[in-house]
Amino acid sequence: MASHPRSTGSELCIWPEMRQLCLRKNLLFEFLRFLPIPYPTMRGVSRCLRRVSRCCSITNMSSRLHIELVPCLRDNYVYILHDEDTGTVGLVDPSEAAPVIDVLDRRKWNLNYILNTHHHHDHTDGNMELKERYGAKVIGSSFDKESIPGIDIALNDGDKWMFASHEVLVTATPGHTRGHISFYFPGSKSIFTGDTLFSLSCGKLLQGTSEQMFSSLSKIRLLPEDTKIYCGHEYTLSNSKFALSIEPGNEKLQSYAAHVAHLRNKGLPTIPTTLKQEKLCNPFLRTSIREIRQSLNIPESVSGEEALDAICRAKDNFLVQ
Ligand SMILES: [Zn+2]
Ligand SMILES: [Zn+2]
Repeated sequence: MASHPRSTGSELCIWPEMRQLCLRKNLLFEFLRFLPIPYPTMRGVSRCLRRVSRCCSITNMSSRLHIELVPCLRDNYVYILHDEDTGTVGLVDPSEAAPVIDVLDRRKWNLNYILNTHHHHDHTDGNMELKERYGAKVIGSSFDKESIPGIDIALNDGDKWMFASHEVLVTATPGHTRGHISFYFPGSKSIFTGDTLFSLSCGKLLQGTSEQMFSSLSKIRLLPEDTKIYCGHEYTLSNSKFALSIEPGNEKLQSYAAHVAHLRNKGLPTIPTTLKQEKLCNPFLRTSIREIRQSLNIPESVSGEEALDAICRAKDNFLVQ
């Protein structure tokens, strides 16, 4: 049986309508209990899932740091971080302001920080409106300080920054863009990977090279396997089709792809995923796997960087077919 992503040791709840519709956490615990079970055995909870699909936000509560997912634009995710002890609130990659303002105002929360993984507009377009409304400080890579709107604090690879009492490790993860960074919260075992690592793929190489992306993915690969990965987009379903096309014999991938299709069919997010799940299924983290190399005619003798380059090009072509 595949090990589907779940938040071990942490508590999930869904809001706001779900609080009236379902029996709050108890029901969600029941829902989560079924996540690792293959699709045919999930019919018993299908009625609950239909209700869950109406909501748009999920909260992951861990170490008193809430991480809340807000769908924006077509397939972006903005994450709201809330430190329970101090009331400090942050955002990761606000592609737009309105959906976030809606949540913050309903919660009567102020916004202290905006964290940007990179400068692309679908990750920063909400910066200025949110900054002006709440007086939030904008944080991003020093490499992107000319291109991130409203940037106040420029950070570099290896920097440590504190979000309330939570240590945040800044890691340069170039490849999609040259200045891309990821924010790792070791205390919450969570990393915000923007457009570097998605579930079942990585970001397109728009500015950087496959060597840079390989190095960036290798850094993320070294984190604990139960690290939760919060990426910038909900691409998992379409990614699963490419992944299956080049590694059809991977049973873990088959199972995960079915699970992902089920979640998306119900309107549920597939994020966060876990590093363990991605190592088992994501072809961009599996460049040495023989079946993948054979599918794409990548010689066994070539390096991981070269194999990644071939996989990236194959995916680009796969998308336009
Ligand atoms: Zn991007
Ligand atoms: Zn993006």
